[in-house]
Amino acid sequence: MKTNLRILTFALSLCASLAFTAFAADKQDNKHKATPKGGRLLDKTKPRAEFVVEKDRGVTINFYDEKMKPVAATTQTVTVIADAKGGKVKMEFDKQGDILVSRTKLPEGDGYGVVVQFKQTAEAKPVNLRFKLDMYICGECQRVEYGCICDH
Ligand SMILES: [Zn+2]
Repeated sequence: MKTNLRILTFALSLCASLAFTAFAADKQDNKHKATPKGGRLLDKTKPRAEFVVEKDRGVTINFYDEKMKPVAATTQTVTVIADAKGGKVKMEFDKQGDILVSRTKLPEGDGYGVVVQFKQTAEAKPVNLRFKLDMYICGECQRVEYGCICDH
């Protein structure tokens, strides 16, 4: 009986550590990778797309292969909806060279929600990527918070 209990305890702790490992691996995947232009790498995009707020508050979408080498935009289209304090603002993008560039600027302020509607091709189902547009510098990774790569 004692042995059985010991085996059970061992099995339980094994389960717990396996579950923990799976959880840790999952967290690792969700963590944002550093991007060349300091922006935010958008999930579920391939080639990987990076959302960048430029100095003039225009937005660019840049593309990278798995090794984070820049690749040209092809058939992708993007619409950004900024849910700013003054109301929702929709931003359209044009392809300029290898990247997509917004026709308009982001609304004033920050800390508001942003939805990137991403389409790989004209026929593809759009993918909605939501995040908060925080423009302060993260003390840990020294990146702008919306592109932060820390685990917080
Ligand atoms: Zn950070």
